[in-house]
Amino acid sequence: MATIREKIRTLSQSRLVSIDDRVTVVATERISSSFQRVALRGDCLSAYHTVLPADGFKIELGTPEESAIRGFTVRRFTPEDLTLHADVHLHPNSPAAAWAQDPALDRPVRFLGFRRDFAIGDGIEQHVLVADASAIPAVATILEAIPHDHRVVVLAEAPTPEDLDLLSVGSHVEVRPIVGAPSVGVDSPLAAAARGLPTGPDAQYWVSAESSTVRAIRRHLLDHDVPRGQLHATAYWIAGTTSTQRDAQEAVTYTRAVEAGLDVDDPQVYDLLEFEGDAPAGALTPSTP
Ligand SMILES: Cc1cc2nc3c(=O)[nH]c(=O)nc-3n(C[C@H](O)[C@H](O)[C@H](O)COP(=O)(O)OP(=O)(O)OC[C@H]3O[C@@H](n4cnc5c(N)ncnc54)[C@H](O)[C@@H]3O)c2cc1C
Repeated sequence: MATIREKIRTLSQSRLVSIDDRVTVVATERISSSFQRVALRGDCLSAYHTVLPADGFKIELGTPEESAIRGFTVRRFTPEDLTLHADVHLHPNSPAAAWAQDPALDRPVRFLGFRRDFAIGDGIEQHVLVADASAIPAVATILEAIPHDHRVVVLAEAPTPEDLDLLSVGSHVEVRPIVGAPSVGVDSPLAAAARGLPTGPDAQYWVSAESSTVRAIRRHLLDHDVPRGQLHATAYWIAGTTSTQRDAQEAVTYTRAVEAGLDVDDPQVYDLLEFEGDAPAGALTPSTP
């Protein structure tokens, strides 16, 4: 009986697709008050055979002088025309938002893929999904993948109700909406609302939002009978830190982890490094309970 965590580990370690190539921006459109949809086309995407919910990829924006690598979710992929859509959250001071709203088409961009971020554990029929705006595109793909005879509770935050309408929900899904600025930290609206979620060993939990918020929610869930194996928690961004700064910090941490003999493709190792990073690298073994 493999859990969500074990299944994501298997998917991540199998490295089914690895692309580092150029794609082209072929369309860009505003789809809600806070999201811009960008369509990327590239022959290299013919290698993308297995499309899974919440698949992540990176693109390299920025200038020759200053690179800026940013992570996004595959919102949709059409193999017929090798075109992939990403929904970019428009927030202040965002190179990604400026890039996404640039009306110029046929712009080339470096593309790096893919990262696996969701699976349904064996025997699971109940899901709890927690997302801020950065993870709304991922939750949209997850909701499309969950069978309609499962039960789903979604705690979702976005700046406007219109942004939350990007989630297409059936009668098996209960959405708990939070409208407002992005949550940051243990006292934020998202973390507070997460303390009212149903908890227990029967459901699986998927949490993506700002790092300190995810840390608080993850701690709450683990303290309330959610087994580690049934929880996949990831930080999609860090308050006050650009992705470029974060990547530089993680390069140091991950190099140390590899030197300590850890498998950094294992989501359990990621979980411990990201959320329990004060522990010495030697203590972060995959068997840590
Ligand atoms: C696997 C994965 C999938 C992701 N999928 C998506 C996706 O589909 N759509 C999407 O929009 N984002 C997604 N993200 C999050 C996105 O990569 C980050 O938000 C990234 O920082 C955006 O870059 P930027 O140029 O906007 O801001 P940066 O230059 O990285 O940061 C500038 C400032 O903005 C702040 N900031 C960064 N992100 C946000 C945010 N979301 N809200 C408010 N403030 C923020 C930073 O703390 C910093 O102070 C994903 C992240 C990961 C890891």
